[in-house]
Amino acid sequence: MTTYHAFTEAEAVEYARTIPNLFAPNSELASREIGDGNLNLVFHISEPSTGRSIILKQALPYAKVVGESWPLTLDRARIESEALIIQESLCPDLVPHVFVYEKDLALTVMQDLSDHVIMRRGLIEGNRYPLFAQHIARFLAHTLFYTSDLGMNQQEKKERVKQFINPELCKITEDLIFDDPYYNAETNNVPPAIQDAIEALWQDKELHLEVAILRNSFLTHAQSLLHGDLHTGSIFITQDSTKVIDPEFAYYGPMGFDIGAVFANLLLNYAAQEGWSKDAESRADYRGYLLGTIKDVWTLFQGEFRSLWSLYGEDRLSKTEGYQDWYLQQVLRDTIGYTGSKIVRRVHGLAQVADINKLEDEAAKERAQRIALRIGTALIKHNRQAQSIDELLEIAVKAV
Ligand code: ADP
Ligand code: MG
Ligand code: MG
Ligand code: MG
Repeated sequence: MTTYHAFTEAEAVEYARTIPNLFAPNSELASREIGDGNLNLVFHISEPSTGRSIILKQALPYAKVVGESWPLTLDRARIESEALIIQESLCPDLVPHVFVYEKDLALTVMQDLSDHVIMRRGLIEGNRYPLFAQHIARFLAHTLFYTSDLGMNQQEKKERVKQFINPELCKITEDLIFDDPYYNAETNNVPPAIQDAIEALWQDKELHLEVAILRNSFLTHAQSLLHGDLHTGSIFITQDSTKVIDPEFAYYGPMGFDIGAVFANLLLNYAAQEGWSKDAESRADYRGYLLGTIKDVWTLFQGEFRSLWSLYGEDRLSKTEGYQDWYLQQVLRDTIGYTGSKIVRRVHGLAQVADINKLEDEAAKERAQRIALRIGTALIKHNRQAQSIDELLEIAVKAV
């Protein structure tokens, strides 16, 4: 047994040497802490003589973003590695391979993806990823179908739910996404320029009811094993490859929460385009690309989910006529509601996004924030009536 301690770069190298069949004995290894996340250490270990490299991700016993005053369970490293292993079994090309999980050190050793870029950065730079919609739709359809009561043995699924009880990380979501943004909470970072819009949101009773209903589903609806934090900072991408990382928030929850996370982060970039595109024409063009991507993701996701269901759904009742249509309509409605919730919290909550916050022109930043709020609140209010993904797209078009 090894007692937990946070690694230095040198200790990360020593640990990496003990992994069998990886690096040559006594070869020179380089180590760099590259974590830009809020919660964990990420070491990049490489062997210059062979070009081999790996990533060592270690959970800290507190949230780095806040400091040691916010203790956080190390069990999230287990959740992350076990979720990655399940995801790899369902879509091997869409997640990093896990080599080792070391419980006592809260440490996961995984494939180095440094040849990819974080999608949030790629979108800010105005890049397009032609295979993204197809890849992420397959990730969503397979991980959400095969971990649900539709796609796995229902008794085994109950065991899975237990395996992924993740109370501390769920609590972060419950507070930072569903609660704090809707009142004058200390954790918020309200941009002074939009104080008026935020105060209006704090008074909006219709909005608060919808958020309470969405939170209720997040708390109680153990539908599928979710990634739990599927924003564009958790997606590594190139022109021909997509890899989903960082599932430490994984738990059993409503499918729409993961799909909504993807859509919300595409729409946050959409809202910020006045600051990133060089002229009106390229702005309209890039916004069209983002909305087209959302439409493609939904269309491909639901097509693939339906065909998995028809081919591999074993349960007799799930073949009931009309049930599949009802089910996907609920998933669409949840998706729209969570898309909205995940947009709103990024405007004035604790953790915001570079797509908006890195804008240097204050006027463009304010417009981006107001557009994002308009889209987010409209989606939240509309979610329970939605019939089609086109309604989400119309809300986004009207907001700019
Ligand atoms: P956190 O949970 O702290 O957000 P992440 O898993 O998102 O940690 O990783 C933080 C950063 O570390 C990523 O944005 C990326 O730059 C880098 N990173 C994480 N995993 C890998 C990997 N497998 N390969 C290369 N870089 C990685
Ligand atoms: Mg992360
Ligand atoms: Mg990150
Ligand atoms: Mg994380």
